[in-house]
Amino acid sequence: TERLLRQSEKLALIGELSAGVVHEIKNPLTSIKGFLQLMQAGTIETKDYITILNSEIERIEHIANDLLGFAKPKEEMANLSIHQVLDEVVFLLNAQSKRKNVYIYWQKKADDVEVLGDKSQLKQVFINLIKNAIEASFEDGVIDVSLEEQDSFVLIKVTDHGSGIPKHNLDKLGESFFTTKKKGTGLGLMVSYKIINNHNGRIHIESEENKGTTFIIYLPKSR
Ligand code: ADP
Ligand code: MG
Repeated sequence: TERLLRQSEKLALIGELSAGVVHEIKNPLTSIKGFLQLMQAGTIETKDYITILNSEIERIEHIANDLLGFAKPKEEMANLSIHQVLDEVVFLLNAQSKRKNVYIYWQKKADDVEVLGDKSQLKQVFINLIKNAIEASFEDGVIDVSLEEQDSFVLIKVTDHGSGIPKHNLDKLGESFFTTKKKGTGLGLMVSYKIINNHNGRIHIESEENKGTTFIIYLPKSR
């Protein structure tokens, strides 16, 4: 029953969201279609518009990436090693953050802890948080990822030393489509909040403008 309930909550949420997502995807699609028609008619020079087409396609790709894991219909709960989840995510993102010369420093301060969770969804949360941290970082920045235990919870901290979040925006974090980025989707945090909620965890944020931000994820340890 619990599983069914969660499934139906998820469906309701997907319904709520889909209107917004469809809207966000339709804009770039409309412009891609328009440019292709002009190219076909020979009205415009193809090579001049490749960049625009490419960035419109990237926009759809970003939306799809941010929603990944969330829209996945099948839940697979298992006992997961937090060390392993973070090893995989940090390995993946260190490759990407090199372009900005940002280094993700994953400090295994605490022993490994197990949580009951859906691996690909939890990976998605840490990918979203660390991606935001990279985007907020200045060149040559460092992002600290660390693990702590507190009573029956495990705390995963993602700290950047970047732009920080202005106070008036803190309340808006996690609202769908709230973004301050030119190419943002405003979906990453919303998806992360939902996933952490589904895992009976919570997210805490500490941020200071121009100093940086720490996202703390609390997850119940499995027993
Ligand atoms: P997006 O990254 O597409 O903008 P998100 O939901 O991931 O969407 O993030 C929403 C907004 O939250 C961002 O646009 C940014 O303003 C703010 N934000 C999130 N993480 C950070 C961070 N580490 N540092 C500064 N701002 C952040
Ligand atoms: Mg993001």
